[in-house]
Amino acid sequence: MDGARKPQTPPVLILLGPPGAGKGTQARMLEDQFGLVQLSTGDLLRAAVAFGSKAGKAAKTVMEAGDLVSDDIVIAILRDRLAAPDCAKGVILDGFPRTTAQAEALDQMLGETGQQINAAILLEVDDVKMVVRIAGRFTCGACGEGYHDEFKQPKTAGICDNCGAEQMTRRADDNAKTVMSRLDAYHEQTAPLITYYDDKGVLRRVDAMKDIATIQNALATLTENIMA
Ligand code: ADP
Ligand code: ADP
Ligand code: ZN
Repeated sequence: MDGARKPQTPPVLILLGPPGAGKGTQARMLEDQFGLVQLSTGDLLRAAVAFGSKAGKAAKTVMEAGDLVSDDIVIAILRDRLAAPDCAKGVILDGFPRTTAQAEALDQMLGETGQQINAAILLEVDDVKMVVRIAGRFTCGACGEGYHDEFKQPKTAGICDNCGAEQMTRRADDNAKTVMSRLDAYHEQTAPLITYYDDKGVLRRVDAMKDIATIQNALATLTENIMA
């Protein structure tokens, strides 16, 4: 077909980085700005725990200990979510993949629909500072907007800027003890993905020790280039 344009497939962006790096915060902003869909396996797992499904029951104690939930469970949850119609807009993966097995499963899933990873964006941070970010994190239970005691306070204490609800919640696993296990899990099991994506030529690095707005600008520029 002469002159025919290559069919465009929905963009796939991955946000990589340790707990507290700002994946959720930035993914929500990219979702608003570019019409992409944020897929957070952490959120999907917390929903499964709250619902009390079989997967949720298996995941609960693992998450409380700060370990990684089994690849089988997480891959199955992500596969289901990725098949939902809204994902045709393109997705930002937040917290997935976290192991090489998950990365390989993702490649396979995307291959089935002719999609590919446009960028794996590494949010580079200083681990020691992540403890403060995580200990001060809270979230609106109604809309999921994220806040911080020091770095991102709502305009009126206790009331969500985004939806007006008064339902701020803190995660059970956001405590100093669990954070150390989660950072260890990141270095042992997730950090190898930096090389995995670098070898594929899709790795991008962003200094995520900057303030939220500066990082957002860097990510917006990067995303504009990818989607152009
Ligand atoms: P992740 O999804 O990577 O675990 P979050 O986006 O939930 O991280 O951010 C962790 C906490 O740190 C939240 O309370 C958030 O408001 C805050 N935060 C996010 N990005 C920054 C930043 N660049 N500087 C300071 N605090 C931040
Ligand atoms: P954070 O970015 O702050 O670590 P998440 O919400 O992404 O938080 O994840 C919370 C917990 O959910 C993790 O500590 C882990 O137990 C589980 N989890 C989330 N995503 C995955 C994944 N892709 N593989 C295995 N476990 C996961
Ligand atoms: Zn809200």
